[in-house]
Amino acid sequence: MKMKTIRSLSLTTLLLLTAAAITGCEQEAKTNVEAAELALTGGAIYTVDGARSWAEAVAVRNGRIVYVGTDKGAEAHIGPETTVVDLEGRMVVPGFQDSHVHPISAGLEANSCDLNAVDNVAAYVATIKKYADAHPDEPWITGGGWLMSAFGPGALARRDLIDAVVPDRPVLLWSRDGHTVWVNSKALEIAGITNDTPDPPDGRIDRDPKTGAAVGSLQEGAEDLVVSKMPPTSDAKREEGLRYAIKYLNGFGITAIQDASVNEEDLKAYRKLDEAGDLSLHVVASIWWERGKGVAQIDGMKRLRSEYTKGHVDAGTVKIMQDGVMENYTAAMLEPYLLPGKKDVRGIPMVEPERLKEAVTRLDAEDFQVHFHAIGDAAIRQSLDAVEAARKANGDLGHRHHISHLQLIDPADIPRFRQLGVVANFQPLWAYADDYITELTIPFLGPKRSAGLYPIGSVQKSGAIVAFGSDWSVSSPSPFEQIETAVTRMGALGDTTEPWLPEQRIALPEAIAAFTINAAYTNRLEKETGSLEVGKRADLVVLDRNLFEIERTALSDAKALVTLFEGKPVHGNLEAL
Ligand SMILES: [Zn+2]
Repeated sequence: MKMKTIRSLSLTTLLLLTAAAITGCEQEAKTNVEAAELALTGGAIYTVDGARSWAEAVAVRNGRIVYVGTDKGAEAHIGPETTVVDLEGRMVVPGFQDSHVHPISAGLEANSCDLNAVDNVAAYVATIKKYADAHPDEPWITGGGWLMSAFGPGALARRDLIDAVVPDRPVLLWSRDGHTVWVNSKALEIAGITNDTPDPPDGRIDRDPKTGAAVGSLQEGAEDLVVSKMPPTSDAKREEGLRYAIKYLNGFGITAIQDASVNEEDLKAYRKLDEAGDLSLHVVASIWWERGKGVAQIDGMKRLRSEYTKGHVDAGTVKIMQDGVMENYTAAMLEPYLLPGKKDVRGIPMVEPERLKEAVTRLDAEDFQVHFHAIGDAAIRQSLDAVEAARKANGDLGHRHHISHLQLIDPADIPRFRQLGVVANFQPLWAYADDYITELTIPFLGPKRSAGLYPIGSVQKSGAIVAFGSDWSVSSPSPFEQIETAVTRMGALGDTTEPWLPEQRIALPEAIAAFTINAAYTNRLEKETGSLEVGKRADLVVLDRNLFEIERTALSDAKALVTLFEGKPVHGNLEAL
């Protein structure tokens, strides 16, 4: 029996050991008599079971795994009707799970004025003009994917740049992180934004310091001043966006996701595609918490949960956005930003901390999982405090509350993730020294705080469960790029060559676990998915190379050749292997 085991089991790994998983790599269903429909043999199958064992073969029947082990042992499962595929040594991993992603808006963006593929202001303007010229009948030009850093340090996205190419129709373009919109004069006019329009409490209208006129970028809650004037997205466009996203995500080997923000329209789109048999993803949907509505909205959320939790969709999560982002000084901080001429700017805590405790305690009691957005150390502390309050009131109900982003965690709060059973949901592709970090973050935090940014390694060592997600379309959903940056703390595409805060790197098995079994735990799917074990769904990926046998800096080049969702290929072709 060929079997390799990764010896250095981390604390997180140990936390996830299950009794069933320690039986070694040779597993089969006791009741098995029928032959498998599909057998993959001759592979390097990294099962991500509790012992992190390797196998040669896996057999599938009725969408589930009926055997994992040696090629010899697989023979008993192979009948005349079984499709047998020789993997020729290729690596297989469990289907990846993205714990924080925005598939519908990302798909919509990809199908609209998409600025993700370019990275400088001249190219943005050229892309906007090209799109507007190609779509003369669209009353609004919308899209996004621009980077704040492309405008240079301290510079803003200005309306006159768009006015020069589209003066007559409103244009609204989301930044890649979704926290700012860039609009033209026509859009500001339709929104009725003048020099006298006050900033909303949860956002900011960027203004010319001399004239007070809006320059064309709107931060956080100020986005709504224009967004609310846009015609609603049609169901057909939303479904088209979702179809694009499913195909794109399956193409990276992703078979389960947590959608980080849904409304009822989105849930309808998921249901419609699922009923058509086209939803080749397990979906946990995080229902958006309206900041102005308080606990009165929970009844509506319960209705959405019971109406839409069905098939491949689980609508049992609520998303609470507790702050903004560092780059526009809206992330909520314990200590002020270092801003020349401005004292005591500490960002925007979106939900008042006592109200947050009340909301989380009620949601927890109603059996919702809470998915927080928290970036600054104050927002993270407020989120942890809210979970602690819920624990005190309700006991440990095991709802796997999780906090996404986690850019700056006060060191005193790191042990609290494990203590409170809160999953640390990092976006590892952000954890290297790109312009966002070196130009838009470090100067405003100073060296001491900057030395603790994205502390993935420290949280991992504390014994907390670490799960990964991309936040696509903010960043690439490629698990391979994200895994590379998690283990190198360098840009996955060769854009930096010095590890940034190298002590925060994690090991490859831990990075893979964060995208498989730990993400499955976050998604309440670990009994069904997240590892390759008998009885689980046959969600798996055949890779073009063995991730353990290549340079760390080559991890991002890996590709998913074939993705199986519940035993069926949803990307690539087994016969072509
Ligand atoms: Zn997000």
